[in-house]
Amino acid sequence: MTDTAETAFTYRDGELHAESLPLARVAEAVGTPCFVYSSQALEDTYRRFSKALSDTGLNSLVCYAIKANPHLAVVKTFGDLGSGADVVSEGELRRAIAAGVPPERIVFAGVGKQRGEMAFALEAGILQFNVESPDELKLLNEVAGALGKIAPVALRINPNVDAKTHAKITTGTTENKFGIEIESLPDLLAMIEGLEHIAIEGLAVHIGSQLTDLAPYAAAFERLAKLFVELRQAGVNLRRIDLGGGLGISYTGGPGPDVGAYAEVAHRAVADLGVPVIFEPGRHLVGNAGLLLARVLYVKQGRSRRFLIVDAAMNDLIRPTLYDAWHEMKPLRQAPENAPLEPVDVVGPICESGDIFASARPFPPMKAGELFAIFSTGAYGATMSSTYNTRLPAPEVMVRGDSFAVIKSRPSYEDLLAEDQLPDWLRAAQGAA
Ligand SMILES: *Cc1c(COP(=O)(O)O)cnc(C)c1O
Repeated sequence: MTDTAETAFTYRDGELHAESLPLARVAEAVGTPCFVYSSQALEDTYRRFSKALSDTGLNSLVCYAIKANPHLAVVKTFGDLGSGADVVSEGELRRAIAAGVPPERIVFAGVGKQRGEMAFALEAGILQFNVESPDELKLLNEVAGALGKIAPVALRINPNVDAKTHAKITTGTTENKFGIEIESLPDLLAMIEGLEHIAIEGLAVHIGSQLTDLAPYAAAFERLAKLFVELRQAGVNLRRIDLGGGLGISYTGGPGPDVGAYAEVAHRAVADLGVPVIFEPGRHLVGNAGLLLARVLYVKQGRSRRFLIVDAAMNDLIRPTLYDAWHEMKPLRQAPENAPLEPVDVVGPICESGDIFASARPFPPMKAGELFAIFSTGAYGATMSSTYNTRLPAPEVMVRGDSFAVIKSRPSYEDLLAEDQLPDWLRAAQGAA
């Protein structure tokens, strides 16, 4: 399998390109740090994922999990290819609708949906609510009743399967806040009998993120399929099954998890049920379609370590700090074959020891002012960024062929400061001064 990162971002004549655009041109136009996405890579990855599913014969619906990268241009790129959306808030639902995703292809997940969000989604006419607790179900019933609607629901089951991924992104064991435990289902179903505005139409599962081992999927899908059959026999009119997202990517440039094998695992577990199957991939579709451009500010030689102090920081990309994530990095100008590699710590300007992108990473010699790229930052990059240290949010750019469009510009300091409002008493004091 070809890795997207390898095809979307390559050296040509010694210069790193996105598709056929030299990345140095983007840096020159919008400055650094800056997120760059390849529209070709987004489209290719979506098509490959969707084809792997249809090749098995499954009747599938891909609902892109917007939280991985919520930019409208990204959501619309997938939506135009037929994708639905998996949303976890009213904000994401509004994004999906704004990007033209039909409501009947939208599923609403998340453990903490609020009354107003439920009402908005019911009015929009979404495909299903993935419900995670009895209290949520009761509230949804009440909100739907007030609107004279029936809420289509999939029960999100906690299959108690360890996804074998990072602790902060594992979701499918009983230690986690997610899903309904299988043992509690009989009581729940009895309670649902009395809820007139709820229609249980499906079962759902989502066991974690950045899964590279398919065995936990097989275990979770089989458990869900078994439950599906039992509930159907008990008279629940189940019409869909939702297998969640979480399929990982390669962060090292090597081959990633095999999409075909993943599709086979799903097919084996649920094909016999004869119902449409929903998938909610996020990271897998966007992770390797994006990179973060940055510039070296200083090279600082300490007694025991050499630091590259760069202009990107943990506020732009929190993954290394939060998940101990490893990201590939390469200079924009290709290093000569025989360039010596020296271990460097790549660090940002923020006043935190955690503001570090790589530790003792072998890297070709870099000088202040030189540009480099941090790879695989299309997912959980820009969307998890902040303005910590009053740093301006990094702009975002989408490349197509040899041209690019700025899809989010860097705000000005005036814009940023204008977000703060002073209370009356301080404003008066300032006026008097
Ligand atoms: C986060 C999430 C996803 C997407 O996860 P990825 O690892 O990005 O594929 C899918 N479904 C649900 C319910 C989620 O919370």
